Amino acid sequence: MTRIDDLPIREELRGKSPYGAPQLDVPVRLNTNENPYPLPEPLVERIAERVREAARELNRYPDRDAVELRTELARYLTRTGGYEVTAAHVWAANGSNEVLQQLLQTFGGPGRTAIGFEPSYSMHSLISRGTGTGWISGPRNDDFTIDTELAEKAIAENRPDVVFITSPNNPTGTAVPADTVLALYDAAQAAKPSLVVVDEAYVEFSHGASLLPLLEGRPNLVVSRTMSKAFGAAGLRLGYLAADPAVVDAVQLVRLPYHLSAVTQATALAALEHTDTLLAYVDQLKQERDRLVRELWSMGYEVTASDANFVQFGRFDGEGAAHDVWQKILDRGVLVRDNGVPGWLRVTAGTPEENDAFLDAVRELKKEQEQSA
Ligand SMILES: *Cc1c(COP(=O)(O)O)cnc(C)c1O
Repeated sequence: MTRIDDLPIREELRGKSPYGAPQLDVPVRLNTNENPYPLPEPLVERIAERVREAARELNRYPDRDAVELRTELARYLTRTGGYEVTAAHVWAANGSNEVLQQLLQTFGGPGRTAIGFEPSYSMHSLISRGTGTGWISGPRNDDFTIDTELAEKAIAENRPDVVFITSPNNPTGTAVPADTVLALYDAAQAAKPSLVVVDEAYVEFSHGASLLPLLEGRPNLVVSRTMSKAFGAAGLRLGYLAADPAVVDAVQLVRLPYHLSAVTQATALAALEHTDTLLAYVDQLKQERDRLVRELWSMGYEVTASDANFVQFGRFDGEGAAHDVWQKILDRGVLVRDNGVPGWLRVTAGTPEENDAFLDAVRELKKEQEQSA
């Protein structure tokens, strides 16, 4: 049997593993930060309608610039983000992962580097690798906040071409204050200048405001967003960014022509018509997130303050301890995430019933541990 490494692949891909959250068939899946609520039936009907219309023109290529969709995304951002943007400031692609890939193809690439403050979203380093961009792992404090001075120093020393700031951060849930983002932006401009990407995949779940207003007067700042989490449409694959119109023009240099299918555009437009219904679930999920924090805390677990739709909890001391707990929770029919952060696991806020199942499982575990101690 031919193995990958027998093939003439790029050197930097040898021996590496693909991104892979386990997709296991278990009753309660709280491992990939999806929204647990299926789309409401009236929206499903509206999607069918808009897709039917689009189907009549599938002999033609889709609107290459996705103008109607970008206009609606801009309207949503203006309404909720505290800053006015137009279609010219917005770009959309197949998931924010593709948006990030296009940004790295444009601003990173061979001979260039990107930095992120880890632990953070593993796709930032994986997409960097995939685009030939060197990866620099920047520091975080023990409580998973970003130490502004240390981060500024890492930027000044490494002079990266792209800086990733994930707020709220995945997998820790930690939001990054605006003044930290501003300090890192200034440091990045002084060092290079470089592109600063604020990944706001979870911002709708945050206690605080979007960092969108920081775009004013900062042409090298990008805010990236997704419909995979708050909008409950992970299967749609729709991500987008807001930035200076020049950044939107720049990514056109690398995007594939007609990258966003007519079916995707029609579906996303239908979902945006139902924004208010979809965001009503977000309020429920925020309450459930806060309940998970409280209950885990009262059981004696350590919990990282979360502004996202998930909670990082621990601490499990000892080699492989977090993974053992992950397995024991799975044995009870609940799938959570082992992100490889030593001593910690991550659980996504699900429906109240799913969260109860999770809390019952960890309560049982705690009892077992106490009895055997
Ligand atoms: C889930 C997630 C995304 C979303 O990726 P999509 O490709 O839009 O599904 C982006 N950034 C972070 C930090 C995430 O956790």
